[in-house]
Amino acid sequence: MSSETIFTKIINREIPAEILYEDEKALAFKDINPQAPFHALVIPKTAIATINDITETHAELVGHLYVVAAKLAKQFGFAEDGYRAVMNCNENGGQTVYHIHLHLLAGKPMGWPPYQDKKKELI
Ligand code: 5GP
Repeated sequence: MSSETIFTKIINREIPAEILYEDEKALAFKDINPQAPFHALVIPKTAIATINDITETHAELVGHLYVVAAKLAKQFGFAEDGYRAVMNCNENGGQTVYHIHLHLLAGKPMGWPPYQDKKKELI
């Protein structure tokens, strides 16, 4: 199965994105459909489909995504106010692009819990 997604195309500059940060291991760019005043995605350049596919060999790389998120938070001035850095997994997690990515959301207070459950049942 090919691990190519739209994010591989962004890494390879085959489709445009508003790129905020890049190094040899990771790329960060603005989300095309922002859910907060600031919404970026931090992705590894190596394609890993879901959190379920992360192994010990990826530990440093996945940690690096948070290092990049923290840099962006400082650079864009929302580190002190706070923000959310979250990764969705598979259908129930709300994942739609199967190349892991850290959502970096900031610029307004975040709600919790994140799910919409009208019956207020515990999950
Ligand atoms: P997920 O639902 O998998 O956690 O998040 C995927 C995210 O990728 C969504 O927030 C969606 O808006 C964003 N996205 C999907 N396609 C593109 C694209 O072509 N460019 C950019 N910049 N973001 C995208």
